[in-house]
Amino acid sequence: MQDKPVALVTGANKGIGLQIAKDLTAHGFTVLVGSRNLEKGETAAKSIGADAHGLQLDVTNQDSISAAAERIRSELGRLDVLVNNAGISHQGQPGRPLEEVGKSGRPSVASLEEVRAVFETNVFGVIAVTQAMLPLLREAPTARIVNVSSGSGSLTLNANPTNSHREMFGAVYSPSKTALNAITIAFAIELESTGIKVNAVCPGFTATDLNNFEGTGTVSKPRDIPCALHCSTRTVRRAHSQTKDTNSRGDVVSSGTGSRRYV
Ligand code: NAP
Repeated sequence: MQDKPVALVTGANKGIGLQIAKDLTAHGFTVLVGSRNLEKGETAAKSIGADAHGLQLDVTNQDSISAAAERIRSELGRLDVLVNNAGISHQGQPGRPLEEVGKSGRPSVASLEEVRAVFETNVFGVIAVTQAMLPLLREAPTARIVNVSSGSGSLTLNANPTNSHREMFGAVYSPSKTALNAITIAFAIELESTGIKVNAVCPGFTATDLNNFEGTGTVSKPRDIPCALHCSTRTVRRAHSQTKDTNSRGDVVSSGTGSRRYV
């Protein structure tokens, strides 16, 4: 088993996941760059440095998930941090304008196939990867699980009539993040006694393929706004370093200091 702590970031071949992987290596972690396309993962890992390694991982494929867990055990022997970052906002290829995605995601017209595909990645994928990695995480001295969620999943924000972004709340992406928040809390409660902390974070509206690069922040310079939608890889690190007596619980995101920590 190696001395350095090991972090796995799913969907880390680009976007926010890649930035999280970069930041974690800069903070002393060996990072596994999860990618459903191994070549892309290895290219991304090379761009980070010697402490990053590509790992084939499709969060919707149980064989791929099991093989990834086995490889971590046999090659590194430990896993300290799991960042469930992989996510999609729609079923199509990158390049769909956000306005069109929003309109086609309205509950009255949303394609059930698309709802299922988005939940498969954003919700079921997180459960499957977390379950597969838990045996390794349970053996780590201070394991952490960080789920990359979104303020758009907050029931409180979306129910607020003064929230100007409510029209983006459809039947596809936002509810998948609402479900992810609920699952985050469920895992946190179950694992509380083991010392494994489970948190959800929101990176803010960041220009990536997920939103056709219409986001107003960038992966290395998150949008600095006085509300819950501001969070960055700093939050992932803070979630990792969080100690038991600073925990709080809730599903309202409203602080200017970053994302809400669920537990
Ligand atoms: P992105 O640039 O599109 O990156 C998404 C990553 O997820 C890619 O690496 C993609 O891999 C991967 N992925 C998708 N499906 C996968 C699967 N089945 N298995 C493994 N990996 C898969 O988007 P992003 O903005 O960085 O998104 C990262 C996370 O941040 C998501 O959970 C998203 O919901 C969340 N988020 C983003 C924003 C924002 O404004 N960007 C705001 C709030 C929350 P491929 O390259 O193979 O497609």
